[in-house]
Amino acid sequence: MTKDFVLGWGVPLLYLLSAICFILGLKLLTKVRSARKGNAYATLGMLIAIVATLIKVGTVDYRWILGGLAAGTVLGLVSAMRVPMTSMPELVAVFNGLGGAASLLVALSTTWLRVIEQPTAPGPQPLMATLGGAGAVMVPLSILVGGVTLTGSVVAFLKLLGKFGYERPILLPARHLINFLLVGGALSAAAIFALVPLETPQVRELALVLTGVALLLGWLLVLPIGGADMPVVVSLLNSYSGVAAAAAGFVIDNTLLIIAGAMVGSAGLILTKIMCVAMNRSLLNVLVGGFGQGASSGPAEASEYVNVKSAGPEEAAMVLENATSVIIVPGYGLAVAQAQHAAKELSDLLIARGCEVRFAIHPVAGRMPGHMNVLLAEADVPYERLVEMDVINSDFRNTDVVIVLGANDVVNPAAATDPASPIFGMPILDAHQAQTVFVVKRSLGAGYAGVKNVLFERDNTVMLFGDAKAVLQGLATEVKAL
Ligand code: NDP
Repeated sequence: MTKDFVLGWGVPLLYLLSAICFILGLKLLTKVRSARKGNAYATLGMLIAIVATLIKVGTVDYRWILGGLAAGTVLGLVSAMRVPMTSMPELVAVFNGLGGAASLLVALSTTWLRVIEQPTAPGPQPLMATLGGAGAVMVPLSILVGGVTLTGSVVAFLKLLGKFGYERPILLPARHLINFLLVGGALSAAAIFALVPLETPQVRELALVLTGVALLLGWLLVLPIGGADMPVVVSLLNSYSGVAAAAAGFVIDNTLLIIAGAMVGSAGLILTKIMCVAMNRSLLNVLVGGFGQGASSGPAEASEYVNVKSAGPEEAAMVLENATSVIIVPGYGLAVAQAQHAAKELSDLLIARGCEVRFAIHPVAGRMPGHMNVLLAEADVPYERLVEMDVINSDFRNTDVVIVLGANDVVNPAAATDPASPIFGMPILDAHQAQTVFVVKRSLGAGYAGVKNVLFERDNTVMLFGDAKAVLQGLATEVKAL
């Protein structure tokens, strides 16, 4: 096989194969049942991509490659094994930031190697003349979007951690004007970079200025956004990291990076839209920020509630004894308590008694789309017991018992009835329509949106206070004793 054949046919064919694996992987990842297979396809696609790129580049220093591979493998393995499901958005934020940083560095190193340190440069030239039209547009774009993604993801990560004063929206005075000026400045700098003939030191300074503005902009854009909106922002930053990667693909003339970047960019944007629709928020509303000021899932504000009834596992089990249909509504608290195995055990016990048990899945229950599906799959809850909101909502009114398990906002009837509520318009699970509703949570504290839940005061609602896992274990013991 000649070198020309390998580079002309072999590498493009491997890239095509890799792209097909990515597409299949993404498709299979859309269903819980096939998600593992999807992950395997995507991993295989990435392996093929790395091998093909190494063949294409030819002479590489394998010490760097092997060092990077070892470091990446260790970091990936440790984070995959140690990061709890509740911290997935933080992990995704870190990955997005790294993606943005990689694209930023690719664009900067290309500028350095092909323009700034080019000894044979024939005097001042616009970037357009040195890198061609696509390169001249994509280098500044890669710097800009990569930089914004990097620092935006760092702020998102800090907000999700809820530490260092970052958990709340930080609203700087005249922030819209500042951001507008920065965006205008960045775009002008990008245009000068591409079109105006510059001396080498000027190219270097402009590249650094553009990088600085992009990093500052990313920081400032995410600062005013409330913690509750962070998963949406993380998804949007995921999309940005894809755009930055696609731009970097043009910069280094790598077709597969363009394809993979475009897929991440569009998938992230679609997910962002799905999340906004499920929360009844517009993207602009999320980006302008401020939502979640005063939000807390902290201590109970019991004084806001009247007529709240509570019971213990024994009384609850007596109600369950006569139930023929039960719907379990899992929420973020299930993830915090790691109660998925206990939920599976209780559902098995009830099914063994002849009761129909299903899990109602709200699209934004938890802290990321699919959060509940993943948790319940981990506990081997059969997929057919998981029913999406649109399908199950009409069944609540014919259901004997609903067990709301660490969920709050997604079952708050105020979303449908109170136009003054910040979550008004968000589709909810109609749990309140069941004959009896048990709400399992530790206190009367608010959910992520920080609003009062009128479900807790309804006549047919009984609170089972406590950690979700402990309450479920208590319930299981009582049901076994029936
Ligand atoms: P919420 O955040 O509304 O409520 C979770 C509840 O869990 C809290 O009220 C808390 O009450 C309870 N809880 C916490 N720890 C435990 C525990 N150990 N045992 C029992 N209960 C516990 O969760 P939901 O799932 O109902 O709603 C998700 C929220 O996140 C929505 O507001 C949604 O818009 C938002 N969101 C979701 C996204 C997604 O993609 N899934 C994306 C963006 C936002 P207490 O402290 O009293 O125990």
